[in-house]
Amino acid sequence: MKAQRPLSLVVHGGAWNIPDDEKDAHRRGVLNALKAGWEVLKDGGSALEAVERSIVVMENDETFNAGHGSALNGAGEIELDASIMEGETLRAGAVAAVQNIANPISLARAILEKNDALILSGMGATRFAKEHGIRTCGQDALVTRREIERWRASQSAAEKPASRKRKNAPPPFPGDTVGAVALDADGLIVTGTSTGGPPGKPPGRIGDSALVGSGIYADNAVGGACSTGWGEGIIRVVMAKSAIDIMASNGDDPEEAAKGAVALLKKRTAGRGGVIVLNAGGSVGIAFNTPGMSRAYITSSTKGPIAAV
Ligand code: ASP
Repeated sequence: MKAQRPLSLVVHGGAWNIPDDEKDAHRRGVLNALKAGWEVLKDGGSALEAVERSIVVMENDETFNAGHGSALNGAGEIELDASIMEGETLRAGAVAAVQNIANPISLARAILEKNDALILSGMGATRFAKEHGIRTCGQDALVTRREIERWRASQSAAEKPASRKRKNAPPPFPGDTVGAVALDADGLIVTGTSTGGPPGKPPGRIGDSALVGSGIYADNAVGGACSTGWGEGIIRVVMAKSAIDIMASNGDDPEEAAKGAVALLKKRTAGRGGVIVLNAGGSVGIAFNTPGMSRAYITSSTKGPIAAV
């Protein structure tokens, strides 16, 4: 009989100081996402489909800062970053600061599969979405009361001179960006992520979640990684690819790779964040230097889903 190849799926819902009264919603949210993706993998579906499904569940859940429920930028608007990469041919698709897209991860996947460009932004991204049946929506469909209140509070804090931050300093939380890494029965590794970015970000700002190497990386020969946290720091240490490079030279240890990538972020940028990692055999590594990180995983060798916040 042919040996069964391992399946594996790990998801996260952001790394920050998750308030106690939001922990249950985070745990439920990452478990729902895991379930949706795992059903795909168990039925023999592709890691690409599993990652998209998991992330769509979290984009549609207003608990998370992605899709519906995203943070507002400094102008009170929603601009979304997302990306997805597959580890066989290293194809990827991404969107940067897009508006009016309900599920940016689905648009990123459509770009991966159907566009010669890798990253789309602005009107071109919206046009491509419409041409390829990706749902567009009004900004109101993505905005929640929680984020309007947060935005108002940040505007009044910003008016006080004492609250001005040093340039390049890591901002305070919250996070709630979402991400997933999957290994399917064909040995394909896929990583994806989606975010509204940091609350109050400058309009037009593009973060690590739109950038292959920083927010995501996937290479079937080594594994997949997905970062979250302070994007400006993550970009400078190319965090997801750094995790993969560490794993390529440490005997495929995903836990050590995750810890190494977070240590690099801290050491070189004083940044805070987290990373989820899978190796090519489906073993999971997770690390973060924030007070909390919502995450869940399941593999062929776990008894069931494992979640923590
Ligand atoms: N890394 C994301 C960004 O900077 C935010 C996050 O992960 O919470 O856009």
